[in-house]
Amino acid sequence: MRLQGQVAIVTGASRGIGRAVAELFAAEGARVAVVYRGNREAAEQVVTAIAQRGGIAKAYQVDVADFAAVKNCVEQVLADWGQVDILVNNAGMIQDGLFLQMEPEAWYRVIQTNLHGTFHFSRAVVEAMFRRRRGRIINISSVAAERANRGQTNYAASKGAINAFTRALAVELASRNITVNAIAPGFIETDMTQAVRNIAGEQIQKAIPMRRLGKPEDVAKVALFLASEDSAYITGQVITVDGGLSLGGIGS
Ligand code: NAP
Repeated sequence: MRLQGQVAIVTGASRGIGRAVAELFAAEGARVAVVYRGNREAAEQVVTAIAQRGGIAKAYQVDVADFAAVKNCVEQVLADWGQVDILVNNAGMIQDGLFLQMEPEAWYRVIQTNLHGTFHFSRAVVEAMFRRRRGRIINISSVAAERANRGQTNYAASKGAINAFTRALAVELASRNITVNAIAPGFIETDMTQAVRNIAGEQIQKAIPMRRLGKPEDVAKVALFLASEDSAYITGQVITVDGGLSLGGIGS
C-alpha cells in the first residue's frame, strides 16, 4: 500500500473528485479526513464505504472559506490522528455568469471558496508538515485557468491564482521535503458539470480528442501519484488531466 501509516485531509470529499480521491487514498492505507461543507449524509456515506473496505476515515464539516473554522478542523485532525502528511485542496464551486451581469457576490464567493479555501487549509497544515519535514500539498485547479470559457471570469481567476500559488509555495517548502503540485482536470463527470453536460454533452465529447469525459477516478489516480513516494522529486507543477482537451487540435 502506497500511503500506509499516513494521514490525508481531502477537502470537498463528500462528492465527485474529492470522494474518489478519499476512497483511493484510504484503499492505499491512509487515514482520511473527509471534509465537506453541508452534505453530511453524502460525507457519512463516503466514510461508511471506506470502512466497509477496511479503511479508516472520518467526516469533518467545515466551510473552507472560513479560516477560523479551517484552523479548528486541522487541530481536530491532529488531535484525532497526531499528524497530517497529505492535503488535497479539492473543495471548489462555480457560479457562472457573463461578466456584464456578474454580481460582486458571485465573484467573492467563488474566489473565497476556491482560492482562499486553498490558502486557508495550506496555511493551517504547513506548520505540522514543517515540524515533521515531510508533506504533500495537492491543489485541484482546472484547465479553465489557461483555456478561456465564457461566463467563468471568477472561476478562471480563482484557478489561475491557484496555479501561481502552487509554484510560489513549492519554492518556499521544497527544502523541507514538502512538495506542492496541482492537477488541472478537464471535463469530469460530477455534479459540477451536470448542467453543462445536459445542455452540451455531445459537443463536449466531440471536443475531447479521447472522445470521452473524464471520471473522478482519472483525477484520483494522479492525486495518488502526487501523494506517493513515486513523485518525490516533482514540485511546483500543474498536471493536466483532460483527455487532450486543452491541446486545441482542429479536426482531431
Ligand atoms: P462537486 O461534485 O460539485 O463537489 C464539490 C465538493 O466540494 C463537495 O464535496 C462540496 O461539499 C465541497 N465544497 C464546495 N464548497 C465548499 C466549501 N465552501 N467548503 C467545504 N467544502 C466545499 O465538484 P467536483 O466536480 O468534484 O470538483 C472538485 C474540484 O475539481 C473543484 O475544485 C473543481 O473546481 C475542480 N474541477 C472540476 C472539474 C469537473 O469537470 N468536474 C474540472 C476542473 C476542475 P458538499 O457536498 O457538502 O456541498
